[in-house]
Amino acid sequence: MLLGKEREKVISIALKCRKTGLVTLTFGNFSLRDRETGYVCITPSGMDYEELTPEDIVVVDVEGRIVEGKRKPSVETPMHCLVYKKRPDVFGICHTHSVFATAWASCQARFPVVVAELAALVGEEVRTAPYRPMGTVQLAEIVADTLADKHAVLLANHGVLAVGADPDTAFVNAVVVEEGAKIAFYAQNIGKLNVLPPQDCQALRQWMLDKYGQK
Ligand code: 13P
Ligand code: ZN
Repeated sequence: MLLGKEREKVISIALKCRKTGLVTLTFGNFSLRDRETGYVCITPSGMDYEELTPEDIVVVDVEGRIVEGKRKPSVETPMHCLVYKKRPDVFGICHTHSVFATAWASCQARFPVVVAELAALVGEEVRTAPYRPMGTVQLAEIVADTLADKHAVLLANHGVLAVGADPDTAFVNAVVVEEGAKIAFYAQNIGKLNVLPPQDCQALRQWMLDKYGQK
């Protein structure tokens, strides 16, 4: 079987998103791009993550053509593939319908950065891509364009797409976007938001890259 370890990794990320509460039922999809072959391993459409085995993960090329796998790949395969094509630095993608981020996206609103870890990891405000129906090439195009060179994007009336230099980073970005959206929602209900200015967001991002964690 092609890319067995990578397929297992995709399943582990899907399960982590499920455990963290970012995904309900099968409303989300997860992929990685293999650095050697350039192939993309992606979750199958509408299958319970708890029951996935490596054989269920579909291997496609960056044009979305099936290379190996007996399942129908995620309906959002065009979106994952287009992001990989436009972003040579991206090797992992998490798409979820996490509740608070999707609530902001349902108002076509970008949520303000009020939380330091959001600023540190994602660097700035998360934009919202205008509405397009699920599973369409139109959605893929508007999402890839709105994401541009950022770490995450909201999908109007739909969800979130988070990317990273590896699948674990994409997962972390999906978590901090949801936490940032949740805290912004609660903070807005408590009082006047103290929005972090762009220069503070950039300084936190740089600090994170230079100083945080086990370098
Ligand atoms: P899939 O189960 O086909 O990946 O679709 C879920 C989804 O989030 C569609 O936008
Ligand atoms: Zn979706």
